[in-house]
Amino acid sequence: MKNCSVFAPATVANVGSGFDVLGFALCDIGDVVQVRESSTPGLVIDSIIGADNIPLEPEKNVCTVAAQALLNSLEKKPSNGYSFSITKKVAAGSGLGSSASSSAAAVVALNELLGSPFSRHELIPFAMKGEALASGAEHADNVAPSILGGFTLVQSYEPLRVVKLHYPDDLVATIVHPHIEVKTADSKRILRQSIPLKTAITQWANVGGLVAGLAQEDFELIGHSLQDVVAEPTRSMLIPMYELVKILSKELGALGCSISGSGPSIFMLSDAMNIAQSLAESLKDLYMDNLISCDVYLSKINKMGCQVIQ
Ligand code: ADP
Repeated sequence: MKNCSVFAPATVANVGSGFDVLGFALCDIGDVVQVRESSTPGLVIDSIIGADNIPLEPEKNVCTVAAQALLNSLEKKPSNGYSFSITKKVAAGSGLGSSASSSAAAVVALNELLGSPFSRHELIPFAMKGEALASGAEHADNVAPSILGGFTLVQSYEPLRVVKLHYPDDLVATIVHPHIEVKTADSKRILRQSIPLKTAITQWANVGGLVAGLAQEDFELIGHSLQDVVAEPTRSMLIPMYELVKILSKELGALGCSISGSGPSIFMLSDAMNIAQSLAESLKDLYMDNLISCDVYLSKINKMGCQVIQ
C-alpha cells in the first residue's frame, strides 16, 4: 500500500494592512503529515506527535476534515481508506497558521496518492474546510500561502481567486511567539465591527502600497505600507510588550512590524539577514528580561509551499 509525506509551511496571515487577504509562507517551520492507503475504508488518525491537545477523532481534526472534502468531490471514490500521522511543529493558537499547515499537508499528500487529480490552486477549497472546523470560517489567507508558497493575495471568495504576488528575494521575516494564550474568540470579539471611512481609506491605500512595494522591490514603500489601522490598534492590547517590540524593530532597522494572524505572534520584515538576526537576539532578551518565554524564528519567504518529502 502506498504512502506519502508532505511538509506544509507555517504562515504569516494578514501581513499588517493586508488584514484577512494577504499571507506569506515561512521556511523550515511547519507540519508534516503522512497519509497511508489502508485496506479498511474510511479515514483514521494513527498518531499526532508534537502536540497533546489536538483531537484524534477524524471529524474533529482539520487534516481528516480537509481530506474528506477532497474525497467527496471525486467522481470515482477509492475503495480503500487512508490513515494519517501528523507531526506538529507549529503550536495551535500561535497565530502562525497551525491548523492551516495540517490541512494543507493533508490535502497535498492525499492528492499525490490519488495521482494528482487536482492542481495546487484547486486544493485550496478543501484545505479551507479544515479552517472552517478550526475557526468557524472558511478562510484562505493561511492555507493559500502554505499550499502555493510565496506571498499570496486572496482577492475574492466567490469565485475563489488567489493571486501569487512578486516580492523581493532579500525579504526576511523575524517572528516572535510569546508563550501566552490568546483565545481566537477573544481576538475576534475585540475587533471593531465598523470603521470610519477615513480609516478604511488609509487601510486600502496601505494594501495597495504594500502590493506595489513588493512588486517594485521598493523596501521603503513596503515599510510605509505595512501599517494596519483596522485590527492592530485593538488586537495589540492582547499581546504583552507589543509597543516595546514595535519601538525596538524600528530602532534596529526593520521595515515594519505587525501581528501575525490573530496573534500572539508578531512578525517583522527586514531587507537584510543581519538586521533580522539582531532583531531576533533583541526580542529573545526583551521577553526573557520580562519573564515571558517565547520562540523566535528567522525565515526567508518560502517559495515552494507544500513539499512532498517521501
Ligand atoms: P492557528 O491560528 O495557529 O491555526 P487556531 O487556534 O486557529 O490556531 O486553530 C487551532 C484549532 O484547531 C484548535 O482548536 C485545535 O484543536 C483545532 N485543530 C484540529 N485539528 C488540528 C490540527 N491537525 N492542527 C492544529 N489544530 C487543529
